[in-house]
Amino acid sequence: MHDELHHKLNELKQAIALETQRKYIDLQGRKSTFSRFVVNSLRLLAQYSPILAEDETLLTLQTRFERYASQQLPLRMQYVEALKQFLEALQRQLTEQEKPQAPRQRLVSNPAGEDDLQSQALNALPLTVLSGVGARLAAKFSELGIHTLEALLYHAPRQYLDYQKRKPIAYLTEGELVTVIGRVISTNVAPTKNNKLALVRITINDGSGQLNASWFLSAASARALASLRDQYAAKYPKDTEVMLSGQVKTFRGFLGMDRPEVEILNYAELEAQEVQTHEALDDKQTSVHAGRIIPIYPLTQGLSLRIVRSLVHQALTRFATPQRVHDPLPEGILRRYDLLPLHTALKQLHFPESAEQSEAARRRLVFDELFYLQARLALSKQQYQTQPGIMLRPKPDGLIARFLAQLPFALTGAQTRVLQEIQADAEKGQPMHRLLHGDVGSGKTIVACLALLLAIENGYQGALMAPTEILAEQHYKKFLQWLTPLGVKVGLFVGKHGQKLRKHQRGELESGQIQLAVGTHALIQEGVLFDRLAMVVVDEQHRFGVRQRSLLKAKGEYPHLLTMTATPIPRTLAITVHGDLDVSTLDELPPGRQPITTTLSRSLREAYGVIAYETAMGRQAYVVLPLIEESESLSAKAATTEFERLQTQVLPHLKIGLLHGKLPPEEKQRVMDAFAAGELQVLVATTVVEVGVDVPNATVILILNAERFGLAQLHQLRGRVGRGQYASRCILQSDAKNAESLARLELMTQTQNGFEIAEKDLALRGPGELMGTRQSGLPDLVLADVIRDRDILAQAREAAFDWVSQQGAQANASENASNAPEDALTHKIVEKSEAAWQLVSAG
Ligand code: ADP
Ligand code: MG
Repeated sequence: MHDELHHKLNELKQAIALETQRKYIDLQGRKSTFSRFVVNSLRLLAQYSPILAEDETLLTLQTRFERYASQQLPLRMQYVEALKQFLEALQRQLTEQEKPQAPRQRLVSNPAGEDDLQSQALNALPLTVLSGVGARLAAKFSELGIHTLEALLYHAPRQYLDYQKRKPIAYLTEGELVTVIGRVISTNVAPTKNNKLALVRITINDGSGQLNASWFLSAASARALASLRDQYAAKYPKDTEVMLSGQVKTFRGFLGMDRPEVEILNYAELEAQEVQTHEALDDKQTSVHAGRIIPIYPLTQGLSLRIVRSLVHQALTRFATPQRVHDPLPEGILRRYDLLPLHTALKQLHFPESAEQSEAARRRLVFDELFYLQARLALSKQQYQTQPGIMLRPKPDGLIARFLAQLPFALTGAQTRVLQEIQADAEKGQPMHRLLHGDVGSGKTIVACLALLLAIENGYQGALMAPTEILAEQHYKKFLQWLTPLGVKVGLFVGKHGQKLRKHQRGELESGQIQLAVGTHALIQEGVLFDRLAMVVVDEQHRFGVRQRSLLKAKGEYPHLLTMTATPIPRTLAITVHGDLDVSTLDELPPGRQPITTTLSRSLREAYGVIAYETAMGRQAYVVLPLIEESESLSAKAATTEFERLQTQVLPHLKIGLLHGKLPPEEKQRVMDAFAAGELQVLVATTVVEVGVDVPNATVILILNAERFGLAQLHQLRGRVGRGQYASRCILQSDAKNAESLARLELMTQTQNGFEIAEKDLALRGPGELMGTRQSGLPDLVLADVIRDRDILAQAREAAFDWVSQQGAQANASENASNAPEDALTHKIVEKSEAAWQLVSAG
């Protein structure tokens, strides 16, 4: 793959040399012009790696060369020079990467000698290099996502078991909480008197005595009972080694535990087949499994703990040496933050000498994870701090002043403050990178409009990108209404537009006639070119990936960026995601807003009663159905059924509209327009109305099967009402009986504050599940838990930002002197952070 890349780079260099020689005439080659060739080549380059795909310089160059043909000589020269520099930097980086890399061939099933193996990178070695691992066992590990030695070494134990504290059954006393380990003697599933329940009983023996573990399961029929019998007989056959943790009881003289935690340590049958090999292989087997703190791993069916443990042990002894495990972190950081060396941390992670050591190991690995992410953010922040920014200054009696004068209301204090922050950024001579955070309904659109006007009144263009056509169209209409009287030309760019209109608009945008482009992803397509883009706004930015943001920015020469979101990310998490952005907050709602009353309801009749009343008063209502997992057609069908039921039976006297993802775009728009204009009184919809929709006359939102939504989503949906002067209601309908679901819905009824909801949701469910990583744009972390590990996060952030600024200072002091180990760390940062960000950038 690298060969191809080198080839492409050389081709480009030749083309550049020729073009320079011919005085920048956009040379006509055999197949295409010089500039076409460059654009195509850059597009190919971007496909080589996810990092290049997001590289802002590359993307900017691509746009520049799309316009090369229509530029004057000085700009052409400038573009070619920039391209040359970019290619040279890329080539240097490539040679750097290739140097330390050992040949990767021939290892797969060829049992190489130890010396050979020792020279391979750990992430290039398959598990089959371990003695005792064949294709079959390797496949089992694959199910756990473990394909390489490195992955095995990073496969963290779920918990540890201190074998020294384990108690023989003979010494147990009633009431104590203990862990015992023994082998299964019998497994029994018996019916109980009431016939609805079955009693499961497993008897184990540890050589010192016997103990019964028991629990009840529901078994409504004889069939169910028989199937439970089969299931348990298969799961706990005789001689299976199990570990039980729980409270000791005595019952009719027998020792027992009710509902203990059960851990299968050894699948008896598997052991018979495979363990001999391992025992033979490792004489000191007992020291791996007993007499010390031993690791318990998350397992998959068919892999016994014993096997995983001995293989990890083998991998550690043979490969986790200081020579093999290259520690990318500089000494200075290790010392300053008191971190274990990487190879020690890996050993202590699996077989810790003490509880303190296992904690120290975990701390080191968590630090790594967070450090790479923070360093990536620091690097990107540093990158745009060195870019030239477009100077924008408000003009006396300019568009901003005139816009504010015609606005029927005054800005809130928070809006005024944020406007000042944006103006200060835009005067700095660096591109602004600002996140505007404001709860639903706090008035972000006006702030966006002001930022865009700042660019336009300075003679530049602005762009606003929104995640859905409905939202883009809504913004477009609002801007038309606000800005046409001021003589600003606004254009809408959405996918549904036909060829002819699209071509016409693109022309107007490229010539600068259109001053403000509002649209969806259609804005970032190739061929959409701006004349002088200076301000980019991304609405509901959590719906976009990093790459999409970069693509839009690359449509101009380092434009300012304002991203906006209402997703209430708790502050603790915010720096893991937005660490490279400056943050502004709209912490004030426009005056006169009535609170939204939120209630939980089981009765639809009552809910529709409220809707009938509100519509009779001249207000409007939403009825929202959950998206049926994976199937938009099913969701559409459910929405259609509910719509028909309402129209024919429940509320026949009302004008009701239907909106779902399967409707053609024109139909969607027609329905949305009719609802916004008040021609429809009720809108039955799937979650397409979730973000941004603004109809201030709507005062009721009924959310069906509310338990199926995440809290953040419910909060967004609720934000569709309470946007005007009338008191509003949000009715959550749910049949859920599950205590956790009810607690979450209950929370919605108690507070309207997005941050509070996010914090509590986090406490209830943990960060992994908060709004779904994808939805929230949070990175995927393996070991780190940003809530529990927030102290480590703060340290990792400090270390990363310090390191990046030192690098910058060094680079300035000795122009071009590349420092090999530091470059290796940069490479590591990009590689490691890439995995964590993948979800996000996939967009
Ligand atoms: P969001 O922050 O959710 O995007 P919007 O920008 O859609 O909110 O604003 C919500 C509603 O509040 C809109 O109808 C808007 O016109 C209105 N609004 C915004 N700012 C003010 C203000 N300063 N005073 C009164 N109403 C305002
Ligand atoms: Mg909005």
